[in-house]
Parts: sequence; structure tokens; C-alpha cells
Amino acid sequence: MTFTTVAAALISIVELPYAYGALEPYISAETMHFHHDKHYAGYVAKLNELIEGSRYATMPLEEIVRQSEGAIFNNAAQAWNHVFYFEQFAPNARHHPEGKLLRSIEMQFGSVDELKRSMVSTATSLFGSGWVWLAADNDGMLYVITKPNAGTPLTDGLHPLLCLDVWEHAYYLDYRNIRKDAAAECFKVVDWAKVEERYENITK
Ligand code: MN
Repeated sequence: MTFTTVAAALISIVELPYAYGALEPYISAETMHFHHDKHYAGYVAKLNELIEGSRYATMPLEEIVRQSEGAIFNNAAQAWNHVFYFEQFAPNARHHPEGKLLRSIEMQFGSVDELKRSMVSTATSLFGSGWVWLAADNDGMLYVITKPNAGTPLTDGLHPLLCLDVWEHAYYLDYRNIRKDAAAECFKVVDWAKVEERYENITK
């Protein structure tokens, strides 16, 4: 008797938790189609190609990000970052943080608007492609961090809470070269309930 095994994709694509056009007018359906189906899916496909038959083949994505370097890290981190990014938005998002997260933001940044301004200006001053992160340490202290290329605070032992994708593919169709507007408009669809949930999970 013979058995045939069909190799499954090692890391699978996570679908968007909302419709492609759900974040309009701030992020268009066209951008979401390219961003999710071409860019993000492309990183996942490339990653699967690179890890097939390697020690990474059986690892969860987050673990690959923590342990790898070079091309595997770049594609794994981009895959992880994009899922994290897409999941922080919602069409009927709560527009303001509350509770413990709000208190930490006010204590460290003065106000939610100041935090947003800080992230937008950090995004504007980043040379080239990358990510701007709001992350927290184990004590709940908040940090705004810039990472070039595929960088993520996961490799600094920090807990990511929220991010701005500062690759041109994230905004060029909608905002052309105006990165500042793209970054600022993003906040209109950030689901702060989701960000709070991420924060609560680390400061319990
Ligand atoms: Mn992207």
C-alpha cells in the first residue's frame, strides 16, 4: 500500500477580518487588495519557499521571527507585521483608548493626540521603508519605535501594540507621496479596543 502526502502550506494566509472596502475612505479597497493579496501574500509564499525542509518548517510564525535572520527573517517578520497591522483596524472602530492604556498614554505622552502626533512625525522622518511601532515593555511602559525594512519590536523583547506601515505600497495608491497624511488618516480606523486588548494581555 502506498500513501501519498500532499505538502500543505507551512504558514497560511490570514484573511482580512473585514471586507476589502470596509476602511474607505481612509484606506481604499484597491490598496487593501494589493496590500493583502499581493504584498502580504507574497511574503508568506516566499517564506514558505525558504523554510521548506528547514528547522523553521514546524515553528509558529512568531518564533521564526524571533529566531531567524537574513531573508527568512525579512519575509517572516513582514508576514507577521502585516497580520498584526490588518487586525488593528475595524470599520466601526472605537476611536479613543480607555482604561489602563489611556492612563499610560496620558502619563507618558500627555494626550492621545500627542501620541498620534509623535507616531506621525516619526513616520515622516523615517528614511526609506519601515514601520513605526507603539510597543510596551513587561511593566507596561510605552515606547514609540522606528524600525527600518521588516523590523519589529518582537526582537527587542517588547510587546507590539499598534503600528504604522511606512512602506510606499501601504499608501501610494491613496495618498501618493504624502506619507504624513497617510499616517495621520490611518488613525481614523484604528480599533482602540483591539490595542487595549493587546496592552491588557501584557500587563495582567
Ligand atoms: Mn505593507
